[in-house]
Amino acid sequence: MIDVDGPLNPWAANPKAAGYRLFEIKVGWRRRLRIWLDPEHGTQLRQLAEETGAELAWATTWLHRANTEIGPRLGLPPLKVIEFHDATGWKYPAVARYAYERPLVWFDDDFGLHAERREQFVHKRRHLTTALIHVDPGTGISAQHLGEARKAFSGNP
Ligand SMILES: [Mg+2]
Repeated sequence: MIDVDGPLNPWAANPKAAGYRLFEIKVGWRRRLRIWLDPEHGTQLRQLAEETGAELAWATTWLHRANTEIGPRLGLPPLKVIEFHDATGWKYPAVARYAYERPLVWFDDDFGLHAERREQFVHKRRHLTTALIHVDPGTGISAQHLGEARKAFSGNP
């Protein structure tokens, strides 16, 4: 599971690390959003998925726009979009339903929110590989995060 703002768009990084490029994305009739993306992330995520047999999916408030605005800029194919319908449970209920009994690795910068829901989520998945990988929006996904993901998928987190 991949979140956009924070993990792929390190909005809090100042300055942005080498590799990041600025994109202006139209989000309304007149509004443009400036986001930073590192195309290398696309390659790294595809490699991670290939090596581990994982399926990449979006868990972001960008919803389907992740496939039109973000994925193509990273060289990612269209991915499954997790849609959130439970306002009180943040992303957890929808991710739980989609991941179901499969191992899960999830990159996000907001696991600090809704701590109680997070604990319930992790508890329900206690017999399944579940790696919630917190990515600082000041750095974005790094080699260390990708290493954690590989470790989790290997069954030896
Ligand atoms: Mg985020």
